Amino acid sequence: MTTTQDERPAAGGIDGGAGPLPQEAGQVSEKEARQVAEAARETEWGKPSFGKELFLGRLRLDLIDPWPQPDPAKTARADEFLAQLGEYVRTEVDGAQIERDARIPDEVFQGLGRLGAFGMKIDEEYGGLGLSNLHYCRALMLAGSVSPAIGALLSAHQSIGVPQPLKMFGSAEQKKRFLPRLAAGEVSAFLLTEPDVGSDPARLGATAEPVEGGFKLNGVKLWATNGTVATLLVVMARVPAGDGQRGGITAFVVEGDSPGITVERRNEFLGLRGLENSVTRFHDVFVPAEQVIGGVGKGLKIALTTLNTGRLSLPAMCVGAGKWSLNVAREWAAERVQWGRPVGEHEAVAKKLSFIAATTYGMETMLDLCCMLADDDRNDIRIEAALVKLYASELAWQIADELIQIRGGRGYETADSLAARGERPAAVEQILRDLRINRIFEGSTEIMHLLIAREAVDAHLSVAGDIIDPDADLARKARAGARAGAFYARWLPTLAVGRGQTPTGYAEYGPLAGHLRYAERTSRKLARSTFYAMSRWQGRMERKQAFLARIVDIGAELFAMAATCVRAKAERETRPEGMELADLFCRQARVRAERLFAELWDNTDSIDVKAAKRILGGRYTFLEDGVVTPATDVDQVAAWEPGPSTVGDVRRRIPPVD
Ligand SMILES: Cc1cc2nc3c(=O)[nH]c(=O)nc-3n(C[C@H](O)[C@H](O)[C@H](O)COP(=O)(O)OP(=O)(O)OC[C@H]3O[C@@H](n4cnc5c(N)ncnc54)[C@H](O)[C@@H]3O)c2cc1C
Repeated sequence: MTTTQDERPAAGGIDGGAGPLPQEAGQVSEKEARQVAEAARETEWGKPSFGKELFLGRLRLDLIDPWPQPDPAKTARADEFLAQLGEYVRTEVDGAQIERDARIPDEVFQGLGRLGAFGMKIDEEYGGLGLSNLHYCRALMLAGSVSPAIGALLSAHQSIGVPQPLKMFGSAEQKKRFLPRLAAGEVSAFLLTEPDVGSDPARLGATAEPVEGGFKLNGVKLWATNGTVATLLVVMARVPAGDGQRGGITAFVVEGDSPGITVERRNEFLGLRGLENSVTRFHDVFVPAEQVIGGVGKGLKIALTTLNTGRLSLPAMCVGAGKWSLNVAREWAAERVQWGRPVGEHEAVAKKLSFIAATTYGMETMLDLCCMLADDDRNDIRIEAALVKLYASELAWQIADELIQIRGGRGYETADSLAARGERPAAVEQILRDLRINRIFEGSTEIMHLLIAREAVDAHLSVAGDIIDPDADLARKARAGARAGAFYARWLPTLAVGRGQTPTGYAEYGPLAGHLRYAERTSRKLARSTFYAMSRWQGRMERKQAFLARIVDIGAELFAMAATCVRAKAERETRPEGMELADLFCRQARVRAERLFAELWDNTDSIDVKAAKRILGGRYTFLEDGVVTPATDVDQVAAWEPGPSTVGDVRRRIPPVD
């Protein structure tokens, strides 16, 4: 195997690691950053995982076929809620106004609160709606289609804010105390990021010093979604080691108006203009000991585990964007005539329509499958959920870009400007801006590639990691050698043959059988390629980020293909046109997968890395001549000092739901 204990890919964003933690933030080596990420990983695989098997060359269709079915009683209750939510956002929420004012009105917070939208994921015993992941994601999609800022508000509150970590790791006392407030309409936020902490949580600077009865929090948190309006916060801070305690990054539930908290700024972004996103300062904020979530030092593990399902909310927004884009693209491309035909009939535009429809079907299928697998709790979905976040955020961005192109100049024009000229106000440029952040937060695309690659090679690391671990002694290396010998003697032959080579394989899938044969053959090819690369690069493999990214992206295509075929077969009687969409999607996915395979070995990766070194060293600065560049007399990352705030509090207080 290739990657040593200390060289494994780091997780990141809000999904970083736990201790062992460097004692001082700021001066963190690459090795320490990786150790932190590695320690936060869930190491157990208690349940089967389609994704894990796929990367080992095994297309375990039995894990996803039969297509899971949601609980009918829960569905009936959820449908009632979805109907009310749909009616509310259609009639009471003005998405254009939110965009114009960069503000979700108080009445909308209250209206959503009255419907129970802030308690969708909270169990009924605490006053919530107890929705399944499937129905929660449908609700986000619905609300987000009217205003993506509302989708982000609800999702940050429930997927990473207080409800989910408390549901999974909170004490009975904490649940009883906090969840009913949230279910009734109070808003929560999640605060990990700091000016110096983005993808690398090992640099965390916020501290939680033990004091009589609890902890004293100090630090500055950046970009907390809902941070200006939240009354309850999840805050990540570093507890120092001492008194027999190992310390480490720890999650706290904190009352938003505790003395010492100042909301110093509301941030503004490219998109999601209605987002209530803050810079929040903590100065000697007392937090009682009983408000630690899950134990000292468990903070990042909690964040990571929470995200296993929490991560599904972003693809829900992407699927919603795909559906919306399909509608706008179809209606426009059928009506707009240029050069004697509707533009949708010109091949260049037709291909874009086909891509938007097929991709929306693919993303929706992956999302629904992940949700239902999470809901029936039989499978481990950590890889699949990460794959769908990565895949949907990338493809939805491409969809929005293609939609703008289909709409031509009108795609670039704002909805208000269109309306002022008497044209249909489709907010196409807005959806591009609003979608862009999905590739950055809750694990950037680069970090997701590393995180998934780490899981994809886990079986190899478990048996053979010690062989190339420089810290392993000879006895450990010898034991690993024996383990690896036994594992590879069994595993490698399984990559040679499979059902995908039999011309009649997967015949029960009718016209889609060929796609599954391809997926089966290709999953073995993927595993062989990974194994070959590991043998070739060994400890240097973790630095081959472009290679690893392609491996992960091929895995995502295969997962999506398998999911669409299984869904289309299950819905064959009720929705026969799904077979066509699944076929279309699989054909496009195969083209993408083949391109990625070709690039595995035919690429410019090494010379790009060398070129980047020269670029960073300033060799080509002559290329920057002739334009006015941003000022350099201001720091790239603003320095901050601990201490009381020197600016006013800009927090926005939402009146409680009556
Ligand atoms: C609108 C918005 C809302 C947000 N909401 C929240 C929130 O509610 N709570 C919260 O805690 N945070 C929040 N964030 C922060 C968000 O999670 C971070 O922006 C994200 O984790 C990336 O960190 P960064 O921006 O500091 O980028 P950096 O970590 O500085 O990364 C810069 C670039 O380098 C890449 N990179 C970094 N490390 C590696 C590596 N090891 N290998 C390869 N590439 C790498 C990144 O992918 C990125 O492309 C929000 C951010 C925004 C903009």
